[in-house]
Amino acid sequence: MEDKIRKIFEERFGGKGAVYASAGRINLIGEHTDYNEGYVFPGAIDKVIMAEIRPNGTDKVRLFSIDINEYVEFGLKEEDAPKEGWARYVFGVCREILKRGFEVHGFDAVFAGNVPLGAGLSSSAALESCFAFALNDLFNQNKIPQFELALIGQSTEHNYCGVNCGIMDQFASVCGKKGNLMRLDCRSLEYEYFPFNPQGYKLVLVDSRVKHELKDSPYNKRRESCERVASRLGLPSLREATMEMLEAAKADISEEDYKRARFVIGEKQRVLDVCDALEKGDYETVGKKMYETHHGLSKDYEVSCEELDFLNDVAKEEGVTGSRIMGGGFGGCTINLVKDSLHDKFVKEVTEKFAAKYGHEPKIYDVVISDGARKVSE
Ligand code: ADP
Ligand code: MG
Repeated sequence: MEDKIRKIFEERFGGKGAVYASAGRINLIGEHTDYNEGYVFPGAIDKVIMAEIRPNGTDKVRLFSIDINEYVEFGLKEEDAPKEGWARYVFGVCREILKRGFEVHGFDAVFAGNVPLGAGLSSSAALESCFAFALNDLFNQNKIPQFELALIGQSTEHNYCGVNCGIMDQFASVCGKKGNLMRLDCRSLEYEYFPFNPQGYKLVLVDSRVKHELKDSPYNKRRESCERVASRLGLPSLREATMEMLEAAKADISEEDYKRARFVIGEKQRVLDVCDALEKGDYETVGKKMYETHHGLSKDYEVSCEELDFLNDVAKEEGVTGSRIMGGGFGGCTINLVKDSLHDKFVKEVTEKFAAKYGHEPKIYDVVISDGARKVSE
């Protein structure tokens, strides 16, 4: 990818710039916990957006996307926003850096990527993080702290791309480290690295390529259930809630709210259990917790769908160590922890069985936990 980018940069702008990259991400466990002030547990993966960038001494940005095969120019003032959706991610990052009182000047850039778009691996966060990291290096002597780079990406989504996302994706993309997952506390925003070196296992994503559009905003309804239970328990969020507190209040809570809260409280504990298991290198327990999360998301939180439950069932039948929905639900991917010896058979079976039932093949992505935002070469 680097050679191709360098060649096209040379043809288009002449000479060379510095090359930067940032990664897509997975979340091993910790789903629907962010808005309940719990933990998430993501890591950066070996699928990246890579950009060659060189300041051009003007106040204009000249940007070429290899994958979309489009060229865009824009200025750096608020009213200069490009209309192309993909370019708004880069424009937004520039604007958010400037708004925080740091520097951005004109530059030439060519970029490409291999993070699948819209598959739940956060290609948009990889794009934002790549440019945020690069512009920090090129114009700000790396004075912007890492976590602020993630916030710059998040604000870009909010203010320039119309996506009201949390901080996990950008955080994972910026701060990711090879062989490590990160437990992010969504209340304090403190984070800790945990070793993830599953020797003898692979991480495999199975993308169902379905997305059920639901009318009654299930996401907001889940949030409201959680807020109702927290307030019934006299707590600011479900972060402080325990199963004992929930059981004690059961008579005053609707059956539905009870189930939602049971999932969230269980999930908070499962993240902690997975961290303990990883410190012992116990990947069988990690896998068991992943299945528990899937079960909770499906039966208590009710954000699964037929296709995702089917993928989970096939994983179980094939002896896969761990499998669960990754992301908000109602479609998208499952994440699977698969023994090396079972990998090829699992991929074959899940592809064939899913296609036979639903009429299209799922997409399979093997991922390795890798570095986040970085400089690739001068
Ligand atoms: P995801 O879940 O992958 O983040 P999004 O819809 O949030 O999906 O972001 C995808 C968008 O990010 C694309 O529509 C495009 O605008 C931009 N993008 C991602 N990868 C690339 C790429 N390789 N080249 C150009 N734009 C990209
Ligand atoms: Mg995105």
